[in-house]
Amino acid sequence: MADQEDICVGCGKEITADQPGCNAMNQIFHVDCFKCAKCTKTLAGSSFYNIDEKPTCENCYQESLEKCTACKRPISDKLLRACGGIYHVNCFVCFSCKKSLDGIPFTLDSENNVHCVPCFHDKFAPRCAVCSKPIIPDEGEKESLRVVAMDKSFHVDCYKCEDCGMQLSSKLDGHGCYPIDQHLLCKTCNGNRLRVASST
Ligand SMILES: [Zn+2]
Ligand SMILES: [Zn+2]
Ligand SMILES: [Zn+2]
Ligand SMILES: [Zn+2]
Ligand SMILES: [Zn+2]
Ligand SMILES: [Zn+2]
Repeated sequence: MADQEDICVGCGKEITADQPGCNAMNQIFHVDCFKCAKCTKTLAGSSFYNIDEKPTCENCYQESLEKCTACKRPISDKLLRACGGIYHVNCFVCFSCKKSLDGIPFTLDSENNVHCVPCFHDKFAPRCAVCSKPIIPDEGEKESLRVVAMDKSFHVDCYKCEDCGMQLSSKLDGHGCYPIDQHLLCKTCNGNRLRVASST
């Protein structure tokens, strides 16, 4: 009595009163034959996903999704590929300030943590020994200008005589640095300080 339409696509047998059928994805299955293609859990009556024409249970669907490198949760909406990982747009954030880096320039530190550029400089740029601010490249420049002296770094503008304010430079004649106890001094002021010290 059964016509073609009453054949279960799962097992190829008839749908009968004993073995009722259900309709899913425009096909007919025995209730018992309508199973998750991955874990074979029976799907009748529960929610399922149609993945490549194969019924898939909620669990297997979630597991088939790509996982966010940061929060380890599946990504079902927009994802972002960066630094060899896959992220929720909201999970790809600066390691320091937690700002989303979607569409924003970023850099990696040696441990592969991502930082927005300002945070990266704040954390890793050498600090000026005078003003203790990070020494970062000027806008549009790649390399930062700095003076290295006495095992310390200085902004070019901060590398000057503490007494008279003269810009110091090892490259300019008469502008060399003559430090006393880590104080930056020009040759003249160095001489003055020594004279004061020896007269007391
Ligand atoms: Zn069947
Ligand atoms: Zn499953
Ligand atoms: Zn995430
Ligand atoms: Zn940041
Ligand atoms: Zn400085
Ligand atoms: Zn001076």
